[in-house]
Amino acid sequence: MARPEVVVGWLLGADLRDPELLAAYELARERVRELLAEALPEFEWKSPYAERRVHLPRGGLDPVGLLEMGVDEKLHRRWDFAIVIVPNELIPRHRPYALGLSSRALEVAVLSTSRLSTGERLVEEITALALHFLGHLFGLEHAGAGPMRPVLEPGDLVPEPYRPGEIAQIRAYLKRVVITRLEEESERWNAVSFYLETLRQDPGSVFRQVLEHAPWRLPLYLGRFTAAAAVSTVYLVITSDAWALAASLPPAGIVGFTLVALLFSTFFLFHGQDLGRLGHERTWREQLARTRIVLFLTLGLGMLSLWALVFALTLAAGAALPRSLLLQWAGRDAVLPFAGFAAALGVVAAAMGGNLEEEAEIKAELFIDEED
Ligand SMILES: [Zn+2]
Repeated sequence: MARPEVVVGWLLGADLRDPELLAAYELARERVRELLAEALPEFEWKSPYAERRVHLPRGGLDPVGLLEMGVDEKLHRRWDFAIVIVPNELIPRHRPYALGLSSRALEVAVLSTSRLSTGERLVEEITALALHFLGHLFGLEHAGAGPMRPVLEPGDLVPEPYRPGEIAQIRAYLKRVVITRLEEESERWNAVSFYLETLRQDPGSVFRQVLEHAPWRLPLYLGRFTAAAAVSTVYLVITSDAWALAASLPPAGIVGFTLVALLFSTFFLFHGQDLGRLGHERTWREQLARTRIVLFLTLGLGMLSLWALVFALTLAAGAALPRSLLLQWAGRDAVLPFAGFAAALGVVAAAMGGNLEEEAEIKAELFIDEED
C-alpha cells in the first residue's frame, strides 16, 4: 500500500534576489523534509517550492497578508501545510519582534529570516524555526527541550528531532487530518450537508478550538468595534422614544430581535471580513470547512459577549437614571426589556462599525495562534 502523502509547501513571499539567502532557504527546505521523513517514515513527505514575489525584500510586513498568501497557494497547489518565508521583518503583535508565527486554523506558518545569522548557521536556524512552527501546526505545545522549546532569540535555534512523545502526537494528528480528509467523496455533497458532517465528525475539537480563541475577549481587543456599540447605546439611553418603543415590545419580540441581531451581525462580519472566502476552490476541504465553522462560532460567541456587556452596562445606566423620568418615558418599569433592545441594536452597530475599521485586527486575532 502506498504511503499517505503529506505535502509541506514552501512559499517565498518577497522578491528576494540574494543568491546566498536563496541557497540557504533551499537547503533548509530539504533538511526539514529529511528530518520529517526520518521522524515519521510512514508518510511520504513532499516539500515543493513556489514563489510570489509581491513584496520588496526589505521593510516590515503584515503577517496577516502573508498568511492569506500562504492559504491561497496552499489551496491552489493542494498542499497540506504551507510555510511562507520572507527576508523581511514581521510586524509583531505581542512581542518586540517576531521570528515567525503560525495559524493552525489556516495550516500556514510564516518565517522571517531578517534577524537570523548568515552562512551555514543560517540554514540551521531556518530549519529549527520551521520545525518549531510546523510543530505548532501539527498541534504541539511548547516544551522544555527539543524543537518545541520557546524561541526567545535566534541563538536558541538549533535543529533537533522531535521527541518520541511529540512524534506520537504528530502521527495521531496527521492520521486524523490528512488520511481522513473528506475531499474525494465530498464533491457530490451540497454545502450544508458537508458543513454538518464536518461538525458531526468531531464536535469536541471544534468547540475546543473556538474556546481557544477566547471569543469573550473579542469586545475587549476590538476597541472601535465596541466603541460603535457604546455610542449607539448611550444615544439610545438618553432618547425617550427608544424607552417607549422598548416598553411597547412584547418580551418574545425582544428575544426574537436579539437572535436576529446576533445572527445578522455574525454573518455580516463573517462575510465583510472575507473570512468565509478563504480560498476560491470549488471542492470542499474538510480542514477549511472546519476553519470556517470555528471562525463563525467564534465570531458568534464574540457577538454574544458584546451583547452581554452592553446589556449589563445598560442595566447599570438604567439603575443610575432617575426612576420617575424613566417611568415617564417608558410608561412602565421597562429597564430589562430596554437593556435587551439596546444591546441588540448595539451589536448591529458594532458589526457595521467594526467591519469598516478593524479587518486586519480581527483576522490577526482569529488566525494567529503562535508568535515567537
Ligand atoms: Zn512557539
